[in-house]
Amino acid sequence: MGPDREGVLRGYDIEQMATRAHVTPVASIYAHANHCLIQQMADVERPRKAVSFASTQARQGQANAYLDQHRGQITVDTLMALTRYHEGDDLSVCAHVQEGYDVESSCACIMAPESRELWALWGNPCQNTYEHFAIGSSMMMS
Ligand SMILES: [Zn+2]
Repeated sequence: MGPDREGVLRGYDIEQMATRAHVTPVASIYAHANHCLIQQMADVERPRKAVSFASTQARQGQANAYLDQHRGQITVDTLMALTRYHEGDDLSVCAHVQEGYDVESSCACIMAPESRELWALWGNPCQNTYEHFAIGSSMMMS
């Protein structure tokens, strides 16, 4: 999500499953991890291991709390810090392999469509550096 040409925050939360999809327009700060929030989508979501579900719920809660804490002050740097966020050794936004959970963050990407910029890294965000990419000119050709 981000500002449109008039500076209004605009975006969409999309939940896509094999048999159905749900699109929710959002006009404020919004975080979504890896579990369905819409009941009709959760009804067809595969069963998860307990630690996998705990991870996505922890990341959702941490991301929302972080974004609420930084409301009005969100920059590319604060978003990069969000991708690197840890709550001690607990399940966190920046996910690492843990006992019984062999999944970790493998990349991160922050996009700014209006300025045609993108910041990306491979691996755990807390252990790597973002690269900046700028695509073409942000000026309209006529
Ligand atoms: Zn980390």
